[in-house]
Amino acid sequence: MTEDGRYLIRTGGLMRCCLATLDEWSARVAAGDAPPPQEGDTMQCKYHEGEGMRFRDGAWEWASSSSLGELG
Ligand SMILES: [Zn+2]
Repeated sequence: MTEDGRYLIRTGGLMRCCLATLDEWSARVAAGDAPPPQEGDTMQCKYHEGEGMRFRDGAWEWASSSSLGELG
């Protein structure tokens, strides 16, 4: 987590809606409503289907639907 309470994001491939999803999620983590991310965690974008994010090496990055599937 960065000093201002946000998590690192590799923005390549992510759209604004995905960043918004992460933004809302990180606010919930900061409020204690969601658990902190673990290595390998995945998240589906709230606003579009088929793609999402994966938490890898301490940062969120774009993940295709197939790679989300591989990770379960
Ligand atoms: Zn999205």
